[in-house]
Amino acid sequence: MDWQSISLTSWGRLKQVPVRACTPRNSRDVSEAIRTVDERGLIAIGNCRSYGDVALNSNGFVVRTTQLNQIYSFDPASGEIVCDPCVTFQQLLREFLPRGYMAPVSPGTAFVSIAGAVANDVHGKNHDCFGSFGDHIKWIDLLLPSGEYVRVSPESRPDLFSATIGGIGLTGVMLAICFTMQKVPSNAVTVHEKRIADLDSFFVHLEDARRTATYSVGWIDALARGANLGRGILSIGEPSPIELMKSSPKRLKVPLDFPGFFLNSWSIGAFNQLYYRRIPSSGRERRTLLETFLYPLDSILEWNRIYGRRGFYQFQCVLPDELSPSGIRCLLEEIARTRLASFLVVLKTLRGEGLGYLSFPMRGYTLALDFPNKSGTTDLLARLERITLDHGGRIYLAKDACMTRNGFETMYPKLDLFRGVLDEIDPQIRMNSDLARRLGIRSSRRINAAANRRQHDKSLADSAIRQISTIPHTHMEKHRSSTMTIAEPHAIAKPNLLTVEDAKKLTASETAELFCNYINPGQFHFLKLLGFHEVIVDSAEGMYYTDKNGRKILDLFGGFGSVAPGHNHPRILAARKRFQEEQRHEIAIAFMSQYGATLAKNLAAIAPGDLDMVFLGSTGSEAIEAALKVAEKVQGPERSTIAYAVNSFHGKTRGALSVTDSAFYQSTFRLLDNRVRVPFGDASALETVFKQNPSIGTLILETIQGGAGIVLAPPEYWKEVRRLCDHYHVLWIADEVQCGVGRTGRFFAFEHANVVPDIVALAKSLGGGKSAMGAMIARRPIYMKAYGTPKTALIHAQATFGGIGEACCTAIEALNILYDEGLIENSAIQGAYLLERLKSLQNKYPKIIQEVRGQGLMVGIEFADFSQTLPIGLKQIVSVLDEKLKGSLCGFLGSLLLKEFNILVAFTEYNRNVIRIEPPLVIKREHIDTFIEALDNLLSRGITRIVTDYAKNFLRKG
Ligand code: PMP
Repeated sequence: MDWQSISLTSWGRLKQVPVRACTPRNSRDVSEAIRTVDERGLIAIGNCRSYGDVALNSNGFVVRTTQLNQIYSFDPASGEIVCDPCVTFQQLLREFLPRGYMAPVSPGTAFVSIAGAVANDVHGKNHDCFGSFGDHIKWIDLLLPSGEYVRVSPESRPDLFSATIGGIGLTGVMLAICFTMQKVPSNAVTVHEKRIADLDSFFVHLEDARRTATYSVGWIDALARGANLGRGILSIGEPSPIELMKSSPKRLKVPLDFPGFFLNSWSIGAFNQLYYRRIPSSGRERRTLLETFLYPLDSILEWNRIYGRRGFYQFQCVLPDELSPSGIRCLLEEIARTRLASFLVVLKTLRGEGLGYLSFPMRGYTLALDFPNKSGTTDLLARLERITLDHGGRIYLAKDACMTRNGFETMYPKLDLFRGVLDEIDPQIRMNSDLARRLGIRSSRRINAAANRRQHDKSLADSAIRQISTIPHTHMEKHRSSTMTIAEPHAIAKPNLLTVEDAKKLTASETAELFCNYINPGQFHFLKLLGFHEVIVDSAEGMYYTDKNGRKILDLFGGFGSVAPGHNHPRILAARKRFQEEQRHEIAIAFMSQYGATLAKNLAAIAPGDLDMVFLGSTGSEAIEAALKVAEKVQGPERSTIAYAVNSFHGKTRGALSVTDSAFYQSTFRLLDNRVRVPFGDASALETVFKQNPSIGTLILETIQGGAGIVLAPPEYWKEVRRLCDHYHVLWIADEVQCGVGRTGRFFAFEHANVVPDIVALAKSLGGGKSAMGAMIARRPIYMKAYGTPKTALIHAQATFGGIGEACCTAIEALNILYDEGLIENSAIQGAYLLERLKSLQNKYPKIIQEVRGQGLMVGIEFADFSQTLPIGLKQIVSVLDEKLKGSLCGFLGSLLLKEFNILVAFTEYNRNVIRIEPPLVIKREHIDTFIEALDNLLSRGITRIVTDYAKNFLRKG
């Protein structure tokens, strides 16, 4: 091996140290180098980017790995890459970013080598999301100090793995590293920068960012004092889906060592002022190259020269979460007082411990900054070490040049485990560094023992070296001589998938087969009983479905009131088409949705009072969950009990189901226990319950009960509800999922009573009959109390599909149509006409129709129950029906209405004697007349014939 005497310095340029260096070209050279080592030991070095003395070995040996810089393989499917120790982050960036991959974790400069990243277990601006570099390593091929070659992984050698990750190079020389690259959407990142006025605000904002953002980093003006202490700029970054045109990065070079006086508190103070004010007070947002965001200083080559010939110290510590506010304050006060700091001051969050015994991270806040090497600097660093220790913190070895042994031993609680591994693999202390000696990582007892043993073991070691020179070299050289191979992902066989065109062609029986096999066979049983299973809808328009046979079906069901503007309203189709053609976006998680914002604004404009704050989701149940949660958040645990009504229906998700009064739906599920049931429409009963149970903080009521069978409360009830809720400080949730969006002749059904609830849930027709859209609208003070601050904002923020693009666009158009076409008025007019006609039918068949009721186009027809009075012969026919249907005419009528008159009506969950009419709000008189005539026709046949006609049609086929 060709050893040369050179002098070496680290990035901090604090000292030049004489070393004997070699630059191996392959792993054979490395093993030969290890064999040569004497008691001064050896350390492998890469690009010399560590700051202090972690990669220096004064008067000893260094192996420079700079020529070991090949990438061997990369598998795009798993992201796994295998590379040489001195491949740099810059190399990875150049090679893989164009293919959509990058290193999962990057230090602040791209010039760091991968082995350096492992040895120091580096972290980046995304630690809260991605942890540190060691977290992504699959295995490391390591040449041990004994000359033995091992593949180290968390599975094969967990102790050696933990000693090597963050092990500052003391476990041997890394020859190959396998780790997982991360997929990125583009080469760009959207960065939001904002000024932060002081340290307390910094903690609030960083705490928020660590939960929500991929990247976050704070720059601090370390010269600011007093009220401005800790002021700075917070940068939050999210990978951008849109590629940026890449101009070749402009690189400046610091031409010479700056004179020592160049960096003084005056020049740095002036710089900090400018740097802080560069960001407008309202913040700014921009897209930038990942490279620029991750490695800002790399654009200034050799920036370390601005500190002059005497170099600089970097100090980086991490303090645990709970002690960070006081600890970082102490550190900054101390630094500001001495006025020694530079402009490079960074505050970040770390999510928790790394995998290595000497890994730096812990859950907390890390502060990093440079200090020019001047008189007083080391005294200051000693004080900073003291403060770090007093706050349970830790100093980063990759940066350190002057920490004390005692400090080090306190900060790194797993040091003994680390030492244990070194004793085992390196009893002769072949690996060493200035930092290891300074911090006494190999205790003196061990060093003496090693010196004695070295002589005796020489022959043993030589034989080990002979061993390694045969086996692994061939393995590595095979890789090294080849050029890089990028593995293609395994071809994935396409399963037997049907296409949309296939779906369109399915017949009724084919659809039934798939429905039974893959969705819900039991439900098919009921569809079949009604004869609904024969219909496969081909298209829909306005009031009608058209089935595959061209049969037109008048839709008075309307998806339980989900199709207010009618099926496929042309304006809605056009809006959606435009939206698609313009290639608008859908998911609104990373970026706000302008469509969601517009829809929310429209809903606030429609809703009375200060019902202004809108949560968008996809279903009624989701809106109900959001409503229950916002109320509970405001009322707190002491008043978390929810009052709900007898026969209520609010949905089937767990919270909504807990307040849905159905033993059938609730089944055996474990539900909320903080709930009480109250009668619907009975204000004095409500007051009694409120009085008895002060833990009630929420009342949830459908304004018109749908599932119960279109049940209305007495008109004076709602004013009383409002009064009682105000008096007992209960929050009133109005479930208008079914009765809202114009159905009753007002946009909200509660408007008829001239009252304003505290929280409203909407869904169904909000999606214009074309999309899934739900909304919770809360009064502004309620929303603000629950989620109004950055700390609370994300407790229940919109989920994946909240504010999704085309659904919002559809809802916006639907709301406009509702007013432009007078559909709410039409609902009132046609609803009144429908009720009037039904009432005359009731007069005609008083024994069959028990009651008709409703408001607008939410109408129920309650038929008499015949369970006790059915003629004997019919009982057998009816016995095929389920218990609740047995006395009910509704199933027979609904089935015959479809079969004979092509009219679709709806049923209710709890009252099998009620038919529900909830048609599109575009309904006209003639549709109502058609329905009344059909119903009249059926009822005129009498009960026995209705049942036998039904039997003829369906049961015989059976
Ligand atoms: N509340 C009411 C009053 C409803 O009628 C419904 C649905 N029938 C829901 C909530 C639940 O809505 P979704 O089915 O969209 O979850």
